[in-house]
Amino acid sequence: MLVSAKEMLEKAKAGHYAVGQFNINNLEWTKAILLTAQELNSPVILGVSEGAGKYMTGYKTVVGMVNGMMEELKITVPVALHLDHGSYEGCLACVEAGFSSIMFDGSHYPIDENVAKTTELVKIAKAHGMSLEAEVGSIGGEEDGVIGKGECADPQECKSIADLGVTMLAAGIGNIHGKYPDNWEGLSFETLDAIQQLTGEMPLVLHGGTGIPEDMIKKAISLGVAKINVNTECQLAFADATRKYIEAGKDLEGKGFDPRKLLAPGFEAIKATVKEKMELFGSVGKAN
Ligand SMILES: [Zn+2]
Repeated sequence: MLVSAKEMLEKAKAGHYAVGQFNINNLEWTKAILLTAQELNSPVILGVSEGAGKYMTGYKTVVGMVNGMMEELKITVPVALHLDHGSYEGCLACVEAGFSSIMFDGSHYPIDENVAKTTELVKIAKAHGMSLEAEVGSIGGEEDGVIGKGECADPQECKSIADLGVTMLAAGIGNIHGKYPDNWEGLSFETLDAIQQLTGEMPLVLHGGTGIPEDMIKKAISLGVAKINVNTECQLAFADATRKYIEAGKDLEGKGFDPRKLLAPGFEAIKATVKEKMELFGSVGKAN
């Protein structure tokens, strides 16, 4: 059964590790992430962007697939199904469809409007036993066509959003989505520290986990980050493994064209990436 991300993230924050959010795109992604979490006895969050939700034909399909798969694969570790960077309307649709967690990305609104909409969603999420992630300070890079600059959030604004009763808070600390450019200045630990000082127990979320050096990830966890989002890295690993299979001409040998064979190397590559991240984040063995 899907669970809210609240308990797993509070435990992570208290235990100084982070739970990975891995975004899903289809059956292979979902199966790879669920199986890896179960094998490593780790809690996990499945992220679904609005674009990926549409691609999978809608949120109800996603809920049906994930619930069915958890039952058939006998997944017993805590799993949250989470809307990533949701609009207000997208959040309502996911509540209706049976998600267990939502993110409202109101970072592009003026702070007053972000507060007003987040306040509404706090009530709705609480009534449904769901976790709610809010965002302050837009996170750079491009995600589903939304381009941000990688700004640093204002710690006071973070506090005002945290005080509304959200479950976890994403704050821009110089992180960006997608691949990091060569001239990237790194994470702003000064900003992160200031945010944690003001928000206390609130689990903080680090978006754009692909390509952040390991020492920075560990330092971020030590400063209160309890959820780290990984998306691009699984995509790169899947594409690379699939490219190698095709370039080696394996799809032309025997029944190598069978999708269950063709997609297998990419599937294994996602599993390896998820495992590496769970080990780095420290969530292995933390399911109970
Ligand atoms: Zn993000």
